[in-house]
Amino acid sequence: MKNSSNIPVIAIHGGAGTISAATTSAAQAQAYHDALQNIMRAAQAALLKGASALDATCLAVELLEECPLFNAGHGAVFTHDETHELDAAVMDGATLAAGAIAGVCHIRRPVRAARAVLEDGAHVLLAGAGAEAFARERGLEMVGPFFFSTEARRQQLYRVRDTGRVVTDHEGAAMTPPLDEDKKFGTVGAVALDMHGHLAAATSTGGMTNKRVGRIGDTPLIGAGTYADDRTAAVSCTGSGEMFIRVAAAYDICARMAYGGATLEDAARAVVHQSLPAIGGTGGLIAIDRHGNLSLAFNSEGMYRGHARGDEAPVTAIFA
Ligand code: ASP
Repeated sequence: MKNSSNIPVIAIHGGAGTISAATTSAAQAQAYHDALQNIMRAAQAALLKGASALDATCLAVELLEECPLFNAGHGAVFTHDETHELDAAVMDGATLAAGAIAGVCHIRRPVRAARAVLEDGAHVLLAGAGAEAFARERGLEMVGPFFFSTEARRQQLYRVRDTGRVVTDHEGAAMTPPLDEDKKFGTVGAVALDMHGHLAAATSTGGMTNKRVGRIGDTPLIGAGTYADDRTAAVSCTGSGEMFIRVAAAYDICARMAYGGATLEDAARAVVHQSLPAIGGTGGLIAIDRHGNLSLAFNSEGMYRGHARGDEAPVTAIFA
């Protein structure tokens, strides 16, 4: 499967959600656009130099993890018990190799640990203390559990905890970012087609605010929140994880293309606008097919996102 045009394509997301209750100022929106633009440019430059889709998606997600605007790595949301539990996954569409980690709180860049699991090859998903021991063995940077904390996320937990709700990252903040922090899914992700014709997907998250300790969402589950197959598409999801798990969202897009001959756009629309809403699922996803077609579909009011083809200037967007 060659990328017939040899033109690389990349897309990233920083979570989906509802528009902030308070009026968003142009400056606040600009901060998100700037962060997305900078990260897009770094990943795009790597792809144009011949980087693999796997390397480019991991780079983009690592930069998103380090940016406190997004709910992954530093800036991750809190569990009900005021702790952090991070999940991440990567998948290589060329080989169907995959790696994921779940429920960790000491690995600075969770996507690097997921990549190390993929490269090790013995297992696909490591959780908790075992995942952290593996990351330590691999020499990955470890941090104290409160490295990930930000005051904004703590206030978000306090607002939400009394309501008994479990909410996505952008549902519930004191500041007024474009998407309502108390009603937003703040997972980050990237999908890419490289100049060699290969696809990859990577996703990383702090999960959902006020989640029960031990809860694992769709992000690290291969086929639910993350999937890549050179024969069809690469997909990274963000939203109410339980529903994405129940419809096997990422894999379902690839299956609709492989078995039913659906186009990427039709497959993504069916999952995002039919299968997910039918069981109360909200959020969105980014996907690229083997021809370089893109879908950035969401059923929420907005999704932080960016995409670029070849050396064209990246396009970033927040609302529909
Ligand atoms: N899908 C993520 C989860 O359920 C949340 C998100 O997208 O922000 O853990």
